[in-house]
Amino acid sequence: MKNQTLFLFLFFIVTGIHSQSTDKFRMETSVATLVLNDKDKILITSKEENGAKIGLRVNELWGITLVNKHNLRQERTLDEISAFRTETSPKKLRFYAKDLYLDDISTTVNAEFTIEAKNDAFLFSGNMSFSAGEWIIKSLDYPRLSKMEVGKENTKIYWPDGLGRLFNGPSEFGSKRSLNTPSHWGTMPWFSLNAEDYGVYIGVHDTLQHTTNITMTQIDGTNDYISSINTNIYDAAYTTPEFVVKPYKGTWHQAAKYYRSWYDENFKIASSPDWVINDTGWLLAILKQQNGNVMWPYRDIDKLCDIAEKFNLTTIGLFGWAIGGHDYLYPNYLPDPLMGGEKELKDAIKRAQDRGIKIILYANGKLIDTSTDYYRYRGMETMMFGNDKKPRMDFYVKHNNKSPVIFCWACTGSEYWRTTMHDLALQANSLGADGILYDQLGILPPELCFSPNHDHNPGHGDSKYRLQMIKEIRKDLKTRNSSFIIMTEGSNTSVLQEIDYTHGIGAGYAPELNGFPDLYRYTFPEYITTQRNPNPMLTKTDANFALLYGLKHEVETRYTADVKYLVNGKTPDADSYWDVNSPPDINKMKSLTMEESAKYMHSLINFENKHGNFLKRGKFISDEGITIIGKDVIARGFTNGDEMGVVVWNKNETQNRSYEISTTGYKYVSSHEPSESIVNNNLKLKPNSVRLIVFKKK
Ligand SMILES: [Zn+2]
Repeated sequence: MKNQTLFLFLFFIVTGIHSQSTDKFRMETSVATLVLNDKDKILITSKEENGAKIGLRVNELWGITLVNKHNLRQERTLDEISAFRTETSPKKLRFYAKDLYLDDISTTVNAEFTIEAKNDAFLFSGNMSFSAGEWIIKSLDYPRLSKMEVGKENTKIYWPDGLGRLFNGPSEFGSKRSLNTPSHWGTMPWFSLNAEDYGVYIGVHDTLQHTTNITMTQIDGTNDYISSINTNIYDAAYTTPEFVVKPYKGTWHQAAKYYRSWYDENFKIASSPDWVINDTGWLLAILKQQNGNVMWPYRDIDKLCDIAEKFNLTTIGLFGWAIGGHDYLYPNYLPDPLMGGEKELKDAIKRAQDRGIKIILYANGKLIDTSTDYYRYRGMETMMFGNDKKPRMDFYVKHNNKSPVIFCWACTGSEYWRTTMHDLALQANSLGADGILYDQLGILPPELCFSPNHDHNPGHGDSKYRLQMIKEIRKDLKTRNSSFIIMTEGSNTSVLQEIDYTHGIGAGYAPELNGFPDLYRYTFPEYITTQRNPNPMLTKTDANFALLYGLKHEVETRYTADVKYLVNGKTPDADSYWDVNSPPDINKMKSLTMEESAKYMHSLINFENKHGNFLKRGKFISDEGITIIGKDVIARGFTNGDEMGVVVWNKNETQNRSYEISTTGYKYVSSHEPSESIVNNNLKLKPNSVRLIVFKKK
């Protein structure tokens, strides 16, 4: 839409202290200075030479989009608002307008934006309101950072997509990326640029954890970026959270610590039962597929236990365990007579637990199958509507020879939906399960819902109610069974408060280019998650990767060919998965036998159990204070009391590797490998193998 130019009844005035010849205003943090000059440009610069430079322009600092609440397709974007008054005080810069009349819209605007130096950072905040009328604020772009110069072509960009991504400069970052928080693609509402020994942290400190979109765009042909924060509002008045720009000295760990310290002032991360902390990982088993194919009737849960034990896994997640199978007939999760009925399911769960294996039951926290009576008779109360007043639809096409199931999205802003989900947890508990997984609550961004039937206003996201729902269910279930857990797939800083155990998904949960699991794991070392491995076995590489970052292991059985592989040892070929849309990685399955994979996992998990003080109950510290020199080797640390365990992994798959390791403030104690109890630290590391080196504080 073309931007509107505003006709304003205000004049531009500047007051305050004129500190320098051309500077109208100046304020400082310990490492940076912010200056407003007489050309209405704001410049944030590091005090050190050749440090960071961030430019902002007063007339581009914000953009407000209005929408007609009776016709959501009618919008006006207010850009380049140059008629604000500017006011300065020693620690605050303020831009404000009162009773601003807009030329063709029947409303007036009051708005104020401030920048201040606080908590050793520059905080951008503001508030705005519109007089009664048919126009409301749709969204706000603020602040807009017109130019960020932080280092050169090798500047590292720490980006919280999944567990994290790390990009070396613009060539890896690409032209533009967005963090849609809170979601699996925007797990934390901040990112950092880091060059040599300094960096810049950009974050949203929102105690309401409202949905926010942080965008960074490369300026063509340069190493510099534009960044802006977009917030959906759909209201006549709005007070912004604090948007933070913080130049800092040191490594990315400083940025992570800064966010965590703000987080701890406002939220508390869930504390999980001991059995989750000590769990070795899970076998994810789809019992019945979307097309009705039953692979594991309830009595065969015994066989799943055999397989879990073979791989040394102590939990089984039952997916597709109800009448519809996987991704069909949701939210009807009745035990299936075809698979053996309720009693056989309960008995099988009990037998698994008698063997020391925990059982989790699947439910989807968002999907309603439109072919169900639930959709027909409870849909209007529960489903999410778009701004076109139509249901939000979704598809999960599992097989290429079956018509796709048509889902709509439920909204957790619906009390009836929250009750439906709560009832499923009560059912899981009555079936004897150790927990329930609500799929998608940790993944999907809180889409705006325009239903007039929910607890939120039309146009608001459901993130608040997702958390409320999980919180209510978790609290109730823990009073009934203190070791019962709530799981979801994917994580973010909102659901993190009430989820005991996460099923990993996306960036950083498996080895991949630009994957950087350290970002989320270092910020939240208490976070407990599985790796993601959609294969009915684990390669040594994937297993070692999980150990290095303190992730629980995973093996998945989803299709008939997976069952044949696990039960009969039949290696699949290209035709084995001809009718499914997301098969496992056949090359991985051919790279070693199932027996070899199981044997390796067995010994690796025994090693993790033996050194659980570090690898399960220690605090993940990434590489902070650890220096390793050597080709193909990588090291990550876990502290516990005055000890530190450092895992070294030789990623080379065919050759031995040597390395030199040093730590800050610790002395060497001993070295250990899965195959032998104690080893000489000077020995080369065998191909694709791990070693744990124990240090003690000096
Ligand atoms: Zn809703």
